[in-house]
Amino acid sequence: MIYERVALIGLGHIASSMFWGMKRADLVGEVYGFARSAETRQTARDIGLCDRVCNTIEEAVTDADLVVLCVPVGVMGDVAEQIAPHLKAGATVTDVGSVKRAVIDAVGPHIPKGVHFVPAHPLAGTEHSGPTSGFAELFDGRWCLIVPSDGADEAAVAKLRALWEGMGSKVNTMDAEHHDLVLAVTSHAPHLIAYTMVGVADDLQRVSDSEVINYSATGFRDFTRIAASDPTMWRDVFLTNKEATLEILGRFTEELFALQRAIRTGDGDHLHDYFTRTRAIRRGIIEAGQDTDAPNFGRTAGRK
Ligand code: NAP
Repeated sequence: MIYERVALIGLGHIASSMFWGMKRADLVGEVYGFARSAETRQTARDIGLCDRVCNTIEEAVTDADLVVLCVPVGVMGDVAEQIAPHLKAGATVTDVGSVKRAVIDAVGPHIPKGVHFVPAHPLAGTEHSGPTSGFAELFDGRWCLIVPSDGADEAAVAKLRALWEGMGSKVNTMDAEHHDLVLAVTSHAPHLIAYTMVGVADDLQRVSDSEVINYSATGFRDFTRIAASDPTMWRDVFLTNKEATLEILGRFTEELFALQRAIRTGDGDHLHDYFTRTRAIRRGIIEAGQDTDAPNFGRTAGRK
Protein backbone atom coordinates (compact mmCIF):
# COMPACT_ATOMS: atom_id res chain seq x y z
CA MET A 1 0.00 0.00 0.00
CA ILE A 2 1.53 3.30 -1.09
CA TYR A 3 -0.59 5.66 1.06
CA GLU A 4 -2.97 4.77 3.91
CA ARG A 5 -5.28 7.74 3.34
CA VAL A 6 -5.66 9.90 0.25
CA ALA A 7 -7.78 13.06 -0.02
CA LEU A 8 -9.02 14.18 -3.44
CA ILE A 9 -9.97 17.86 -3.47
CA GLY A 10 -12.26 18.56 -6.43
CA LEU A 11 -14.15 15.56 -7.80
CA GLY A 12 -14.06 16.05 -11.56
CA HIS A 13 -12.55 14.24 -14.54
CA ILE A 14 -9.02 13.79 -13.22
CA ALA A 15 -9.94 13.10 -9.58
CA SER A 16 -12.52 10.48 -10.55
CA SER A 17 -10.07 8.79 -12.94
CA MET A 18 -7.48 8.76 -10.16
CA PHE A 19 -9.96 7.19 -7.75
CA TRP A 20 -10.85 4.36 -10.14
CA GLY A 21 -7.20 3.95 -11.13
CA MET A 22 -6.06 3.70 -7.48
CA LYS A 23 -8.81 1.19 -6.70
CA ARG A 24 -8.11 -0.93 -9.79
CA ALA A 25 -4.58 -1.65 -8.60
CA ASP A 26 -5.34 -1.53 -4.86
CA LEU A 27 -2.70 1.14 -4.37
CA VAL A 28 -4.05 2.94 -1.31
CA GLY A 29 -6.12 2.40 1.82
CA GLU A 30 -9.01 4.84 2.05
CA VAL A 31 -9.85 7.69 -0.30
CA TYR A 32 -11.73 10.69 1.05
CA GLY A 33 -13.11 13.27 -1.34
CA PHE A 34 -14.41 16.82 -1.22
CA ALA A 35 -16.07 18.97 -3.87
CA ARG A 36 -17.33 22.51 -3.38
CA SER A 37 -20.90 21.92 -4.62
CA ALA A 38 -23.45 19.77 -2.82
CA GLU A 39 -24.56 18.53 -6.25
CA THR A 40 -21.14 17.10 -7.12
CA ARG A 41 -20.82 15.57 -3.65
CA GLN A 42 -24.20 13.88 -4.09
CA THR A 43 -23.29 12.56 -7.54
CA ALA A 44 -20.05 11.20 -6.12
CA ARG A 45 -21.95 9.40 -3.35
CA ASP A 46 -24.45 8.01 -5.86
CA ILE A 47 -21.76 6.45 -8.07
CA GLY A 48 -19.49 5.24 -5.25
CA LEU A 49 -16.76 7.73 -6.06
CA CYS A 50 -14.52 7.81 -2.94
CA ASP A 51 -14.78 5.70 0.20
CA ARG A 52 -16.11 8.78 1.95
CA VAL A 53 -17.36 12.04 0.46
CA CYS A 54 -16.88 14.78 3.07
CA ASN A 55 -19.02 17.87 3.52
CA THR A 56 -16.04 19.99 4.56
CA ILE A 57 -12.57 20.33 3.15
CA GLU A 58 -11.18 20.12 6.70
CA GLU A 59 -12.66 16.66 7.25
CA ALA A 60 -11.28 15.46 3.90
CA VAL A 61 -7.65 16.45 4.51
CA THR A 62 -7.32 15.80 8.26
CA ASP A 63 -5.10 12.72 8.72
CA ALA A 64 -4.55 12.32 4.96
CA ASP A 65 -1.11 11.07 3.92
CA LEU A 66 -1.57 12.43 0.41
CA VAL A 67 -3.74 15.39 -0.58
CA VAL A 68 -4.34 15.82 -4.32
CA LEU A 69 -5.56 19.21 -5.56
CA CYS A 70 -7.78 18.45 -8.57
CA VAL A 71 -9.36 21.90 -9.07
CA PRO A 72 -8.85 24.48 -11.85
CA VAL A 73 -5.40 26.07 -11.86
CA GLY A 74 -6.76 29.52 -10.96
CA VAL A 75 -8.12 28.39 -7.56
CA MET A 76 -5.25 26.14 -6.43
CA GLY A 77 -3.81 28.88 -4.16
CA ASP A 78 -7.17 29.54 -2.41
CA VAL A 79 -7.71 25.84 -1.83
CA ALA A 80 -4.16 25.42 -0.47
CA GLU A 81 -4.81 28.26 1.98
CA GLN A 82 -7.99 26.54 3.20
CA ILE A 83 -6.37 23.15 3.78
CA ALA A 84 -3.07 24.37 5.25
CA PRO A 85 -4.11 24.48 8.96
CA HIS A 86 -5.47 20.92 8.81
CA LEU A 87 -2.56 19.09 7.15
CA LYS A 88 -0.84 16.30 9.04
CA ALA A 89 2.92 16.55 9.65
CA GLY A 90 4.77 14.40 7.12
CA ALA A 91 1.89 14.46 4.63
CA THR A 92 2.41 15.18 0.93
CA VAL A 93 0.38 17.72 -1.03
CA THR A 94 0.35 17.31 -4.80
CA ASP A 95 -1.73 18.73 -7.64
CA VAL A 96 -2.69 17.75 -11.18
CA GLY A 97 -2.79 21.25 -12.68
CA SER A 98 -1.99 21.74 -16.35
CA VAL A 99 0.35 24.66 -15.59
CA LYS A 100 3.17 24.35 -13.09
CA ARG A 101 5.00 27.65 -12.38
CA ALA A 102 1.80 29.53 -11.48
CA VAL A 103 0.54 26.66 -9.30
CA ILE A 104 3.87 26.37 -7.47
CA ASP A 105 3.88 30.14 -6.82
CA ALA A 106 0.26 30.08 -5.63
CA VAL A 107 0.33 26.91 -3.51
CA GLY A 108 3.94 26.81 -2.24
CA PRO A 109 3.70 29.68 0.27
CA HIS A 110 0.74 28.02 2.05
CA ILE A 111 2.43 24.66 2.64
CA PRO A 112 3.35 24.34 6.33
CA LYS A 113 6.79 23.24 7.50
CA GLY A 114 7.00 19.45 7.71
CA VAL A 115 4.55 18.93 4.83
CA HIS A 116 5.94 18.01 1.39
CA PHE A 117 4.72 19.70 -1.76
CA VAL A 118 5.32 17.68 -4.93
CA PRO A 119 3.57 19.19 -7.99
CA ALA A 120 2.60 16.88 -10.86
CA HIS A 121 0.70 16.87 -14.14
CA PRO A 122 -0.80 13.79 -15.81
CA LEU A 123 -0.75 14.25 -19.58
CA ALA A 124 -4.07 12.54 -20.03
CA GLY A 125 -7.63 13.70 -20.26
CA THR A 126 -10.63 13.90 -22.50
CA GLU A 127 -12.93 16.77 -23.41
CA HIS A 128 -15.38 15.58 -20.72
CA SER A 129 -15.53 16.91 -17.19
CA GLY A 130 -17.24 16.23 -13.89
CA PRO A 131 -17.42 13.30 -11.47
CA THR A 132 -19.06 10.83 -13.86
CA SER A 133 -16.48 11.33 -16.64
CA GLY A 134 -13.55 9.49 -15.06
CA PHE A 135 -12.35 5.98 -15.82
CA ALA A 136 -9.53 3.79 -14.50
CA GLU A 137 -7.74 3.38 -17.84
CA LEU A 138 -7.27 7.11 -18.50
CA PHE A 139 -3.62 7.15 -17.42
CA ASP A 140 -2.55 3.83 -18.97
CA GLY A 141 0.61 4.34 -21.03
CA ARG A 142 0.38 8.14 -20.72
CA TRP A 143 3.05 10.34 -19.20
CA CYS A 144 2.81 12.00 -15.82
CA LEU A 145 5.33 14.80 -15.27
CA ILE A 146 6.45 15.37 -11.69
CA VAL A 147 7.93 18.80 -11.00
CA PRO A 148 9.81 18.61 -7.68
CA SER A 149 11.41 21.73 -6.25
CA ASP A 150 15.14 21.84 -5.50
CA GLY A 151 15.77 19.92 -2.31
CA ALA A 152 12.41 18.13 -2.42
CA ASP A 153 12.13 15.12 -0.12
CA GLU A 154 13.27 12.15 -2.20
CA ALA A 155 11.08 9.63 -0.39
CA ALA A 156 7.97 11.81 -0.95
CA VAL A 157 8.79 12.12 -4.66
CA ALA A 158 9.42 8.35 -4.95
CA LYS A 159 6.06 7.53 -3.35
CA LEU A 160 4.18 9.86 -5.68
CA ARG A 161 6.02 8.35 -8.64
CA ALA A 162 4.99 4.87 -7.47
CA LEU A 163 1.36 5.99 -7.23
CA TRP A 164 1.31 7.31 -10.81
CA GLU A 165 3.12 4.23 -12.12
CA GLY A 166 0.59 2.09 -10.26
CA MET A 167 -2.22 3.94 -12.07
CA GLY A 168 -0.59 3.00 -15.39
CA SER A 169 1.43 6.13 -16.15
CA LYS A 170 4.98 6.51 -17.33
CA VAL A 171 6.67 9.09 -15.11
CA ASN A 172 9.30 11.73 -15.78
CA THR A 173 10.55 14.68 -13.77
CA MET A 174 10.96 18.17 -15.23
CA ASP A 175 11.45 21.72 -14.03
CA ALA A 176 8.45 24.02 -13.99
CA GLU A 177 9.56 26.47 -16.71
CA HIS A 178 10.42 23.69 -19.14
CA HIS A 179 7.13 21.94 -18.37
CA ASP A 180 5.15 25.09 -19.15
CA LEU A 181 6.97 25.62 -22.47
CA VAL A 182 6.58 21.98 -23.56
CA LEU A 183 2.89 22.02 -22.69
CA ALA A 184 2.37 25.33 -24.48
CA VAL A 185 3.60 23.58 -27.66
CA THR A 186 1.90 20.23 -27.22
CA SER A 187 -1.37 21.18 -25.58
CA HIS A 188 -2.12 24.82 -24.79
CA ALA A 189 -1.52 26.47 -28.19
CA PRO A 190 -3.25 23.59 -30.07
CA HIS A 191 -6.31 24.05 -27.87
CA LEU A 192 -6.39 27.77 -28.62
CA ILE A 193 -6.08 27.08 -32.35
CA ALA A 194 -8.94 24.56 -32.15
CA TYR A 195 -11.10 27.06 -30.26
CA THR A 196 -10.33 29.63 -32.98
CA MET A 197 -11.10 27.32 -35.90
CA VAL A 198 -14.43 26.28 -34.43
CA GLY A 199 -15.21 29.94 -33.69
CA VAL A 200 -14.40 30.86 -37.31
CA ALA A 201 -16.74 28.16 -38.64
CA ASP A 202 -19.42 29.41 -36.29
CA ASP A 203 -18.97 32.99 -37.55
CA LEU A 204 -19.00 32.08 -41.24
CA GLN A 205 -22.52 33.00 -42.25
CA ARG A 206 -22.13 31.73 -45.84
CA VAL A 207 -21.76 28.15 -44.56
CA SER A 208 -24.88 27.11 -42.73
CA ASP A 209 -24.79 25.54 -39.27
CA SER A 210 -26.20 22.28 -40.59
CA GLU A 211 -23.48 22.12 -43.27
CA VAL A 212 -20.78 22.61 -40.66
CA ILE A 213 -22.27 19.81 -38.60
CA ASN A 214 -23.18 17.36 -41.35
CA TYR A 215 -20.06 17.70 -43.47
CA SER A 216 -17.50 18.04 -40.69
CA ALA A 217 -14.72 15.94 -42.20
CA THR A 218 -12.22 14.57 -39.73
CA GLY A 219 -10.04 17.69 -39.54
CA PHE A 220 -12.80 19.97 -38.32
CA ARG A 221 -14.46 17.25 -36.26
CA ASP A 222 -11.26 16.72 -34.29
CA PHE A 223 -11.06 20.48 -33.67
CA THR A 224 -14.62 20.45 -32.31
CA ARG A 225 -13.72 17.67 -29.88
CA ILE A 226 -10.83 19.69 -28.48
CA ALA A 227 -12.90 22.89 -28.48
CA ALA A 228 -15.54 21.18 -26.32
CA SER A 229 -13.09 21.11 -23.38
CA ASP A 230 -14.03 22.71 -20.07
CA PRO A 231 -14.14 26.55 -20.40
CA THR A 232 -13.07 27.24 -16.79
CA MET A 233 -10.09 24.90 -16.95
CA TRP A 234 -8.86 26.38 -20.23
CA ARG A 235 -9.46 30.01 -19.28
CA ASP A 236 -7.20 29.39 -16.27
CA VAL A 237 -4.56 27.60 -18.35
CA PHE A 238 -4.16 30.57 -20.69
CA LEU A 239 -4.22 33.16 -17.93
CA THR A 240 -1.55 31.31 -15.95
CA ASN A 241 0.72 30.06 -18.76
CA LYS A 242 0.68 33.42 -20.47
CA GLU A 243 4.31 33.87 -21.47
CA ALA A 244 4.95 30.43 -22.96
CA THR A 245 1.60 30.39 -24.78
CA LEU A 246 2.21 33.85 -26.29
CA GLU A 247 5.72 32.80 -27.34
CA ILE A 248 4.39 29.73 -29.18
CA LEU A 249 1.47 31.62 -30.71
CA GLY A 250 3.93 34.21 -32.05
CA ARG A 251 5.88 31.47 -33.79
CA PHE A 252 2.66 29.88 -35.00
CA THR A 253 1.53 33.14 -36.57
CA GLU A 254 4.84 33.52 -38.43
CA GLU A 255 4.59 29.98 -39.83
CA LEU A 256 0.98 30.54 -40.78
CA PHE A 257 1.93 33.68 -42.71
CA ALA A 258 4.69 31.74 -44.51
CA LEU A 259 2.20 29.03 -45.52
CA GLN A 260 -0.32 31.68 -46.55
CA ARG A 261 2.33 33.26 -48.77
CA ALA A 262 3.26 29.88 -50.28
CA ILE A 263 -0.37 29.28 -51.19
CA ARG A 264 -0.73 32.77 -52.70
CA THR A 265 2.49 32.51 -54.75
CA GLY A 266 1.88 28.90 -55.75
CA ASP A 267 5.04 27.67 -53.97
CA GLY A 268 4.16 23.96 -53.98
CA ASP A 269 7.67 22.93 -52.93
CA HIS A 270 7.37 24.89 -49.70
CA LEU A 271 4.01 23.31 -48.91
CA HIS A 272 5.21 19.80 -49.80
CA ASP A 273 8.41 20.07 -47.75
CA TYR A 274 6.48 21.44 -44.80
CA PHE A 275 3.87 18.68 -44.85
CA THR A 276 6.60 16.02 -45.23
CA ARG A 277 8.27 17.31 -42.07
CA THR A 278 5.01 17.35 -40.10
CA ARG A 279 4.10 13.85 -41.25
CA ALA A 280 7.33 12.56 -39.67
CA ILE A 281 6.24 14.03 -36.33
CA ARG A 282 2.99 12.05 -36.47
CA ARG A 283 5.02 8.90 -37.15
CA GLY A 284 7.16 9.66 -34.09
CA ILE A 285 4.06 9.96 -31.87
CA ILE A 286 2.79 6.57 -33.05
CA GLU A 287 6.20 4.94 -32.62
CA ALA A 288 6.29 6.27 -29.05
CA GLY A 289 2.97 4.51 -28.39
CA GLN A 290 1.14 7.81 -27.73
CA ASP A 291 -1.54 7.29 -30.39
CA THR A 292 -2.98 4.69 -32.73
CA ASP A 293 -1.94 4.19 -36.35
CA ALA A 294 -5.44 2.97 -37.25
CA PRO A 295 -7.17 5.04 -39.93
CA ASN A 296 -9.32 7.82 -38.45
CA PHE A 297 -7.86 7.16 -34.96
CA GLY A 298 -9.46 3.72 -34.91
CA ARG A 299 -12.99 5.12 -35.08
CA THR A 300 -15.36 2.71 -36.73
CA ALA A 301 -17.43 3.94 -39.65
CA GLY A 302 -20.48 5.85 -38.63
CA ARG A 303 -19.32 6.25 -35.05
CA LYS A 304 -18.63 9.74 -33.81
P1 NAP B 1 -13.43 19.13 -13.80
O1 NAP B 1 -13.86 17.80 -14.29
O2 NAP B 1 -14.12 20.34 -14.33
O3 NAP B 1 -13.49 19.16 -12.21
C1 NAP B 1 -13.07 20.28 -11.48
C2 NAP B 1 -13.40 20.13 -10.01
O4 NAP B 1 -12.93 21.33 -9.37
C3 NAP B 1 -14.89 20.02 -9.71
O5 NAP B 1 -15.10 19.10 -8.66
C4 NAP B 1 -15.27 21.42 -9.26
O6 NAP B 1 -16.25 21.45 -8.26
C5 NAP B 1 -13.98 21.90 -8.61
N1 NAP B 1 -13.91 23.37 -8.64
C6 NAP B 1 -14.09 24.18 -9.71
N2 NAP B 1 -13.95 25.47 -9.35
C7 NAP B 1 -13.68 25.46 -8.03
C8 NAP B 1 -13.46 26.47 -7.07
N3 NAP B 1 -13.51 27.77 -7.41
N4 NAP B 1 -13.20 26.11 -5.80
C9 NAP B 1 -13.19 24.81 -5.45
N5 NAP B 1 -13.40 23.78 -6.31
C10 NAP B 1 -13.64 24.12 -7.58
O7 NAP B 1 -11.88 19.39 -14.08
P2 NAP B 1 -10.68 18.36 -14.40
O8 NAP B 1 -10.66 18.12 -15.86
O9 NAP B 1 -10.69 17.21 -13.46
O10 NAP B 1 -9.43 19.32 -14.09
C11 NAP B 1 -8.93 19.46 -12.78
C12 NAP B 1 -7.47 19.87 -12.86
O11 NAP B 1 -6.77 18.91 -13.64
C13 NAP B 1 -7.25 21.23 -13.54
O12 NAP B 1 -6.27 21.95 -12.82
C14 NAP B 1 -6.72 20.87 -14.91
O13 NAP B 1 -5.84 21.86 -15.39
C15 NAP B 1 -6.01 19.56 -14.65
N6 NAP B 1 -5.93 18.63 -15.78
C16 NAP B 1 -7.01 18.44 -16.60
C17 NAP B 1 -6.90 17.57 -17.68
C18 NAP B 1 -8.07 17.34 -18.62
O14 NAP B 1 -7.85 17.01 -19.78
N7 NAP B 1 -9.29 17.48 -18.17
C19 NAP B 1 -5.70 16.87 -17.92
C20 NAP B 1 -4.64 17.05 -17.03
C21 NAP B 1 -4.76 17.95 -15.97
P3 NAP B 1 -17.83 21.37 -8.60
O15 NAP B 1 -18.04 20.06 -9.29
O16 NAP B 1 -18.44 21.39 -7.26
O17 NAP B 1 -18.13 22.54 -9.46
